[in-house]
Amino acid sequence: MTENHPQAPWRTCQVGSGCSGSALSPFGRCLRHLDGYKLKLAIKRAKTKGLDVRGVTIAPSLLKSIFDGLDQTVDGAVIVPRARFNSAKFTGPAGFDRATFNGHATFEGAKFHEEARFGRATFKGDARFVGATFIGNAGFDKVAFKGNAGFDWATFYGDAAFDEAIFSEDARFGGVKVSGQLSLQSVHAEKKLRLALSTDGTGMVNLARASLAGRNCQYLWMRSFRQRRLARHR
Ligand SMILES: [Zn+2]
Repeated sequence: MTENHPQAPWRTCQVGSGCSGSALSPFGRCLRHLDGYKLKLAIKRAKTKGLDVRGVTIAPSLLKSIFDGLDQTVDGAVIVPRARFNSAKFTGPAGFDRATFNGHATFEGAKFHEEARFGRATFKGDARFVGATFIGNAGFDKVAFKGNAGFDWATFYGDAAFDEAIFSEDARFGGVKVSGQLSLQSVHAEKKLRLALSTDGTGMVNLARASLAGRNCQYLWMRSFRQRRLARHR
């Protein structure tokens, strides 16, 4: 019912209970409100048309159905097509470990209510987590970001680990709010790394052994953010 979600920039689910999920054509419903063969068909179509779960509440069972319907690598990791998770709500753990994102992946405004695991994933296109909220810990260890990586205005209530991640294009962490530790140990950034913490957070950043190849790397922080929190060891 679009009238309940005038702010949603997509056509919303017509299930009749005010669902904010993006309505998939020709079903008129979001992925959460499809089942049986319609759910399978919608996921199959996503492999070529892209996965659209904008505004969808994604329980672990739905995430499993999505992964089961997508292709997998020989070692069993999911291959995600161009994907739009904008404003999606993950109600349980979100396990994208070792996933390959073949196109742009947008998680803008997404909310992870439990841990978010992206360890060893590969983003072949841009990865946009602008304004995302991570209530549990976030694991991005050893992720290969081959496109731009955008985490501007993301909120991490737990720890966020990007250890040994590789950023091939620009990496942006502008205005991020961190309550635990934002660990960028041993990351390798080819181009610009912009890091600016919001003063709202109480956490710290660890850039130990970071390899910052770009001459235009920037470390910025808000005026009242105490520099001593930025621990950099070699
Ligand atoms: Zn729905």
